[in-house]
Order: sequence, then structure tokens, then C-alpha cells
Amino acid sequence: MELIGSVKNYDWGKLGQESFVAKLAAANDGQFELDVNKPYAELWMGDHCSGPSLISATGEELGSFIQRDPVGNLGPDACKLSYLFKVLSIRKALSIQVHPDKSEAVKLHAQYPDIYKDPNHKPELAIALTDFQAMCGFRPYGEIYSLLKEWPELEALLGKDKIQKLETGGEEALRELYTSLMHSKPKELETCISQMLAKINAKSDPTSLDQLFQQLHKDFPNDVGLLSIYFLNVLSLKPGQAIYLSANVPHAYLTGDCIECMACSDNVVRAGLTPKFKDVDTLLRLISYEGAAAESKFFQPVQLDPARQAHTRTFIPSVKDFAVAETRVPQGVGEYTISNGANGCILLVCSGRAKLTPVGMDPIGLEFGKIVFVPARTGSELRLVIEESGSEFIVYQAMTNDFIEQ
Ligand SMILES: [Zn+2]
Repeated sequence: MELIGSVKNYDWGKLGQESFVAKLAAANDGQFELDVNKPYAELWMGDHCSGPSLISATGEELGSFIQRDPVGNLGPDACKLSYLFKVLSIRKALSIQVHPDKSEAVKLHAQYPDIYKDPNHKPELAIALTDFQAMCGFRPYGEIYSLLKEWPELEALLGKDKIQKLETGGEEALRELYTSLMHSKPKELETCISQMLAKINAKSDPTSLDQLFQQLHKDFPNDVGLLSIYFLNVLSLKPGQAIYLSANVPHAYLTGDCIECMACSDNVVRAGLTPKFKDVDTLLRLISYEGAAAESKFFQPVQLDPARQAHTRTFIPSVKDFAVAETRVPQGVGEYTISNGANGCILLVCSGRAKLTPVGMDPIGLEFGKIVFVPARTGSELRLVIEESGSEFIVYQAMTNDFIEQ
């Protein structure tokens, strides 16, 4: 089933043709009209009620299509897609955030249904499509200590003794320090930030962290999230590299394009770099204060069947809700087989051309921007005939995570 994805024009998205989301949408949807001044932030592929995909041929929502034959579409043990598949094109930073775990999500949803709209957890996987920058998890405590110590302005804002404690105090010292950052008074925060900015602007040889400060300040002046760059790891991902955000890990995407897959939920606890509501008390209660090196945050894929699927890498997180496979078939390979998920899967083609030839069904042409829902009843093997196109054939595939026991 070919799908039309749902495009989100959030303010932080890349503009017009700069946006990979817009390029995919233009190729995916014949009705799509590109406006060069408009931000195109996200492309959603799935059955989430806030942005359901449509069946191209009929205009029916994917969710209702699935419901007409749940067993044929998703297999005997599911009635709804367990994941939401997305592409993001980011021009300016998304808010610093954490996502609650399942039991916490149930409580938050019961208590504040207007803010936390569903009772599900929202672990996320992001795979870079272009050079991609993100903040992820707290830095090692010693690293935070050395960074903060360089700034008398931060000592004035947070307290010299509190910063000093971080040298040996570990998690508890960080909790105390981060709590006082999040509770700092707006006037004092403003003074601190403007003094730091003046110093940074006067530098003849600014560091990459200085430049990030300047960049974020343009979009979020006086936002407490600006100072998080000294607390959180700043990661630069190359295309194909990934990060996985489990519950309670603080993170923010800064720039670039990525594939994203997550459990089907919208529960976000925000901590800065946002005009939206910041639930500071919940954040401070949930956030993981574990400090770890930036390199430890990269998430590695596995090759499940190197003999038969040499061109496929699968990202398998520790939750049942989803897994993502990336297939890159070079030119010159005539045929290639990928696996369907036990609950079906969604394919997104990012480059090249191929024909999907499901047994007993008409072949489907796959090219840039094509989104296809493959029902469970199609079987476990999906045969591709790769066509000459001058570039490798790249397809991303989201499915329920059958690769772990839980
Ligand atoms: Zn997130």
C-alpha cells in the first residue's frame, strides 16, 4: 500500500527547498505545493491520530485501513502500529527534553491529561541523514566541573560551593547544581547570559562551544536551556550514525536532517530552548543524572544476516515497540531481499530505484520519496529488483521489534 505522509510545519523546520522533508513530500504527494518561505519540519509515517498517513490510492487513513483486517495487516498479536516513523529537517534547536518511562507516563497522563496526552512511553531513535548535531545525556561530572569553573558568571549564578562539590560529589552534586540552574531567577539568568555573550563575542578565536552559545542565543535569548550546553554532551553525527534516547535521558536536536522512530506517543517533559510550557518539577524528578562520555551515546546497528543481507543494518533498541533497518544497495546488484516484520513494516525510499515484487501481487515501483506500508500477510521476505538509476538504492524500514525478548 503506497502512503502519503503527514507534513508538519513547525517553526523550527528548514525552509522551502532546503528541507529534506519538503523534498520527500514533493516526491511523495502529487498534491503537494512547496512554499519557499514555509518551514517543513517533520514528515510522519504511521497511524498516530495527530498526523495519520493516507492510503495514496483511496485517501483512507492508514489506521482505519488496518482496522478492516487487523490480522492480515499486523498479524495475530497487534491491532495498532506500535511505532511512529518520521523524518526531521531541523533549522533551529528543538527543546531540551526527557520522555517518561511507561509507569511514569501512566501517572502523568492520569494527573495532567492536557499536558501528557497519552499513557505511553516514548523512547526514540534518531539516524542522521546529513551532518547532524544533538545534545544527549549529561557530560561526565569532571567535564561539567571544568567547563563551569571557567566562567565567574556561572559561579555567581549557581554558587561557587555548589560547583566545587561536583569535583567529587557525583550524581547528587549534579542534581543539586542542575536544580539550582533550573530554578535561577529570570533577572539573574539574563545578567549571566548577557555577560557571557559579551565575552564570547569579544573572543578572536571562539571555541565550537562558544559558537553554539552564539547560535542558540540568536533563537533563544535568555532561555535557561542555553546554559545546558555546559552540562550536556554535544554530539556531531555523520550520515548513518545514530543515537537512542531511552526514558529520562535529557536531549535536544540542534541542526540537520534525520530519520526518527519512536514508540507511538507524544509525551514530552521540556527543560528549555522552547517557548512552550516547562514542567520543571517533573523534569527535575525524572531526569537521569548519570554522567557519561559523548562517545558512549552513539547507538550501533547490527547485521542480522550478513550472508544474505550484506547491505542491511538494523538498529535494535531495548524496547519492543520498534526497530529500524537501513538498506543501501550499491549499483550493479540486480536483486536483493529484505525481511518484512512479523507485524508488517513501513518503507521509506531515500535514493535510487527498485521494484518491490511481493509474491502474488502487482509489483510496486520504489523511488525517492515513496512510502509503502507492507502488511504482515505479504510474508516474511520482500524481494527487490534493483534498477539502474545512477545512485545506490537506499530504503529505511520501521517495524515492531521482534528481535528482542521482553
Ligand atoms: Zn525527544
